[in-house]
Amino acid sequence: ELEDMERRRRAEEAEDKKGMVATMRDISRQEYLKKREEAKLEELKEALEDEKYLFQGVKLTDKERRDLEYKEQVYKLAVERKKQLEELEQDDHYHMPTGYEDEKGRSQKYEVLTQRYRDVEAEEKQETPWAQQEQFEAEQIKKAASKFGAKDRKSKAESYDYVFEDQIEFIVDQYLAGSGPEVEETKEEKLKREREAREAEQRSEFEQIQEARKLLPMFPYRDDLLKAVEEHQVIIIVGETGSGKTTQIPQYLYEAGYGKLGKIGCTQPRRVAAMSVAARVAQEMGVKLGNEVGYSIRFEDCTSDKTLVKYMTDGMLLREFLGEPDLASYSCMMVDEAHERTLHTDVLFGLVKDIARFSLAGVLFGLVKDIARFRPDLKLLISSATLDAEKFSEYFDFAPIFRIPGRRYPVDILYTKAPEADYLHAAVVTTLQIHVSQPAGDVLIFLTGQEEIEACEELLRQRTRGMGSKIGELIIAPIYANLPSDMQAKIFEPTPPGARKVVIATNIAETSLTIDGIKYVIDPGFCKQNSYNPRTGMESLQVTPISKASALQRAGRAGRTAPGKCFRLYTAWAYQHELEDNTVPEIQRTNLGNVVLLLKSLGINDLINFDFMDPPPTETMFRALEQLYALGALNDKGELTTLGRKMAEFPVDPMLAKMIIQSQKYGVSEEVATIAAMVSIGGAVFYRPKDKAVHADNAHKAFHRGNVGDHIALMNVFNGWAETNFASQWCFENFVRSMKRARDIRDQLLGLMDRCEIELVSNPQDVEAIRKAITSGFFYHTASLQKNGSYRTVKNPQTVHIHPSSGLSEIMPRWLVYHELVLTTKEYMRVVSEIKPEWLVEIAPHYYSKKE
Ligand code: ADP
Ligand code: MG
Repeated sequence: ELEDMERRRRAEEAEDKKGMVATMRDISRQEYLKKREEAKLEELKEALEDEKYLFQGVKLTDKERRDLEYKEQVYKLAVERKKQLEELEQDDHYHMPTGYEDEKGRSQKYEVLTQRYRDVEAEEKQETPWAQQEQFEAEQIKKAASKFGAKDRKSKAESYDYVFEDQIEFIVDQYLAGSGPEVEETKEEKLKREREAREAEQRSEFEQIQEARKLLPMFPYRDDLLKAVEEHQVIIIVGETGSGKTTQIPQYLYEAGYGKLGKIGCTQPRRVAAMSVAARVAQEMGVKLGNEVGYSIRFEDCTSDKTLVKYMTDGMLLREFLGEPDLASYSCMMVDEAHERTLHTDVLFGLVKDIARFSLAGVLFGLVKDIARFRPDLKLLISSATLDAEKFSEYFDFAPIFRIPGRRYPVDILYTKAPEADYLHAAVVTTLQIHVSQPAGDVLIFLTGQEEIEACEELLRQRTRGMGSKIGELIIAPIYANLPSDMQAKIFEPTPPGARKVVIATNIAETSLTIDGIKYVIDPGFCKQNSYNPRTGMESLQVTPISKASALQRAGRAGRTAPGKCFRLYTAWAYQHELEDNTVPEIQRTNLGNVVLLLKSLGINDLINFDFMDPPPTETMFRALEQLYALGALNDKGELTTLGRKMAEFPVDPMLAKMIIQSQKYGVSEEVATIAAMVSIGGAVFYRPKDKAVHADNAHKAFHRGNVGDHIALMNVFNGWAETNFASQWCFENFVRSMKRARDIRDQLLGLMDRCEIELVSNPQDVEAIRKAITSGFFYHTASLQKNGSYRTVKNPQTVHIHPSSGLSEIMPRWLVYHELVLTTKEYMRVVSEIKPEWLVEIAPHYYSKKE
């Protein structure tokens, strides 16, 4: 009965909260902010009046009078600021704060910078009486002519038929105009360019790099940008991919002396981007990576005391807030790739805005509340390829927008005539079609992940094997997050004459990395995305159609250095009708457990009123709170517990953190650390080359001895490798990989465990204890076998299946715990282990009780 009452009370409470949030969200953000300013103002006014009333007729001391005057002054200024904001609102939100505005509130200075390009553009577009007719004709000709492999290219098409059998028909349907002036090169200019190129060859590599830096679109705006940084605390920077934002701006800041005041930080949503860009910048500055220029990504810190320019993932900066809530060691922070709107970037927006905020009401309240979190001197740059700059500007209290005019060449966009059933196959065929029938220029294929990329690489090799001199050389360069860093560099190597480079990439090449020389883009139209259902608590990674905005970015990659072509492996109809305009920000489609735990550890308790640019669904927020409560990270008042504080120390999912912390209790902390490291590298450990599939399967089977589950099998892999003293030959013979990374992660976790005073105890034989320790973190992720041979998750019943790659996929135990769900053709549980139902009651009595 008591339980029942408690449940009802909680349901009511939740309803209340929901109602509150709903009303808050009904008013738009804009209004909400305004209301908040007003409330602050009101508060200021009241305080002032109270004080005046109190001091009535009393003779004031000098200090008291000064205090009062000061407060009056602040109030007056706050009123003025409010008026200013209101005036600004009436204008279109495109302006600079004082000093950069004419009487209409429009920016003069930066406008001038972009005006030049606008003029040229306008001129180009200028309507002449015959322009429309001309355009129509041009389009018709284009439509007819560039049918891929059509009549006018007959000989080419035939040569393709001769080499390969299948082909795909494309039609040009769209034309992505270039931005920036396209000027024909005169003869003198050509000669001059050639002479300069010859001269350049004689210069040293370092000099050449310095020359190249000056040619980037960013360079002419260097001084203007530095001036703007000097004058404003927050700036929004928008510029086409490849213009030099990521590599140049931190260097400019460094050259301007900001390094003397503190570190210059730059966040990237992707690990590979942080590493690769840092390497490039170190090279440009002529220093060793890890010294003046470094990077920091999860489980890998490549910085030193000397580091002044630091690239890092957005998630790492979020973690840095734990140790340094005011980012005291930084003088500048650049939040790059802001348009990606990853979960971590979105949370960072709220945090950096909070510490950098310089509204007058903020000053006073900042002073009163906690002076430590306030950084009026921190320079904040929010940069991105294309974004809704106005929305960002507004969010950052109307920060100025700095636009860097990009250069882009026109790109033809081709669609398939009919839908393609298998985009991987279609991508391979298209690549070969391009290779035999199109002029020189490298190819970029967008796929969704490592497995697809590897399959594509293998297919391409198979199909070109034995072609000999029939076709030119094809250099295949894959790039994805888990690729060893020495192989990442391959994508940037110049292509030798006569050969063609094919870069096969994940979304990482969409905006984070710029590869010169790409002329052909193949876009199957998919990417891997998180999705989360707060109602069931199910989170999965699934292959999803990209947005129109993404498709546009991808196509743009073809026109960086010359006019290009983008082959979309879907129909024009599908583009129009099946793609969303924009990608939904990650914060609205992911589990927030991690972030909520982190924010709670930062002392931010009122998550409902946290200043999110786009708030997450309330249901997701409550789910996260509930899960953290079930894990014991929060108490029933929603406050962080000691366990929760410890969990936040680990840069992993809360469930994984809980499992690690509990492992000592089961006497298997060393084994659990190994397992945690192995699951953290993703599903890439076992590999299975087609031509050696039987060998690989046999080797893998040995790790699954005992058939108790994939977790134990992963541990067996690591321990087997450790016994050979970490020999790479052993990995090769056993068809396992990514082990070096697993070892690095494991070392890191052991270090963190030491810091949290978790004792290292080991008992590899006790597989039951190990599985119990896993269950202590993952009791949320349990499922039981149904009569029809499928599984059902225990709480919030959902039908799921064991992933075919699992060692238990044929054994099908009655109860199991799983690491993650992936949605491909079905909802699959990946990495599963057998458990006993009694364990659930024993381990998580507050969550499970004996019912039957
Ligand atoms: P943005 O951030 O504006 O997209 P970047 O600063 O990333 O632009 O890139 C500027 C230039 O630096 C590009 O021409 C790109 O090709 C080059 N570049 C970046 N990283 C590397 C690298 N690792 N090797 C060679 N060139 C690189
Ligand atoms: Mg960039």
